[in-house]
Amino acid sequence: MDLQTIVTETWNALADDRGSGNPARYIPALAAVDPRKFGIAIATPDGRVAAAGDVDEAFSIQSISKVFALALALEREGSALWDAVGREPSGDAFNSIVQLEKEKGIPRNPFINSGAIVTTDRFIGNRGVDAAVRDLLDRLRRMGRNPAITFDEDVARSESEAGERNRALAWFLADFGRLLNPVEEVLSVYFRQCALSMSCRQLAESALFLAFDGSDPVTGQRMCSASRARRINALMLLCGHYDNSGQFAFEVGFPGKSGVGGGILASVPGRAAIAVWSPGLNRAGTSLLGARALAEIAQRTGWSVFSGP
Ligand code: GLU
Repeated sequence: MDLQTIVTETWNALADDRGSGNPARYIPALAAVDPRKFGIAIATPDGRVAAAGDVDEAFSIQSISKVFALALALEREGSALWDAVGREPSGDAFNSIVQLEKEKGIPRNPFINSGAIVTTDRFIGNRGVDAAVRDLLDRLRRMGRNPAITFDEDVARSESEAGERNRALAWFLADFGRLLNPVEEVLSVYFRQCALSMSCRQLAESALFLAFDGSDPVTGQRMCSASRARRINALMLLCGHYDNSGQFAFEVGFPGKSGVGGGILASVPGRAAIAVWSPGLNRAGTSLLGARALAEIAQRTGWSVFSGP
């Protein structure tokens, strides 16, 4: 069966359940999104995108941005990044602070908020906030083949206004001497990266590098080395959905990263990058319908990192 048919059939099979789960409500901009939005886009190395539903509407990618931030921080910092951030699943909520004290300010992994704050700090490095934001946007525009990709200023402002927990995490990290830049500067980039606005189509196209050893097979642009891309995939599989990561790996069987805007970005090594969007979340902040769509696609295509070629 061809991929477009699989995507269309998956969308149709789940469409009646649009609106299931609970959209994020911690900022008004996310609470206001229509909960019945539902899109599926699969980008393949031949340059095609199999798509169904709301695939061209930009939404707040939230923590999906942590994948791009990790790739870019690794590029700047190299393996030294791993002195500051761990590589173990946390088993705790995305914004948990409990492990930070026991582990002396070394976050468990780069995909929980504390880990992403450290990653963002290293991505900024010593060049200042504005240059870092420009670099982030520039890279995403190139990888997403769209010069209009940007972040939503309202969402970024609201993230900051509702940012007590992330401030607590960042100050805790600073107290352990784990941040190179001032707390508010790091957070100003972190809040903006969470507020990046992208469509399923743009996300899937920008993430092909994950499935193809670090470079986009369509444009030939390299994002990171092959071994780094493989390691980012490993972390997505183990840590991409916070305390729901095991369940996601069990149901779907390939690496993914959730965002509380209801998007999930998945990588099927050697085959495709997939982005799904449905705003209703489960208790761990993963899109309920999005995860079901990915499980359905895995079943219909037979794709899994645990199967042979
Ligand atoms: N902006 C959210 C936060 O920092 C991102 C969480 C997520 O998408 O999982 O709390």
